[in-house]
Amino acid sequence: MYTHTEEQCAQIGPRTMFLIAQAQTRIERERRVLAMMAPPLFYGHTNCPYHGPAHERSKCNRAWDEMWWGKFGKSFLNPLRPLGFKDAFEFIQSSEFPGVTKECKEEAETRIIGGFDIEEQIITAVQKSENSVTWCREFGDLM
Ligand SMILES: [Zn+2]
Repeated sequence: MYTHTEEQCAQIGPRTMFLIAQAQTRIERERRVLAMMAPPLFYGHTNCPYHGPAHERSKCNRAWDEMWWGKFGKSFLNPLRPLGFKDAFEFIQSSEFPGVTKECKEEAETRIIGGFDIEEQIITAVQKSENSVTWCREFGDLM
């Protein structure tokens, strides 16, 4: 979250300040969603001993959900030193997820590898947008 002085706001202008405020709100929403919602493991990897329709209720899946929130989510939402979007994937990849089979974790990682570029997408949309309507059409309506 970035803050601006009154003088900076005056220099930037109301149109751009509006876009920045909208983008910050959207980025913070994405941060909360990513922190709270572990990507689903579905049936799990075929090598997981719990593979199949019951995987969702398995120890592997429960460990994944618990570790996602307990390890990643809390770091991502840390109000003092939040884990950056750019560092999130590497953090997950390098973290131990006890109870989650190696294959299930790796399979989930292949699905989320590009999932943390949302911040970059929002910032790029703000930079490219010609006006607030253009930006809201792309990102604002999802808030
Ligand atoms: Zn599994």
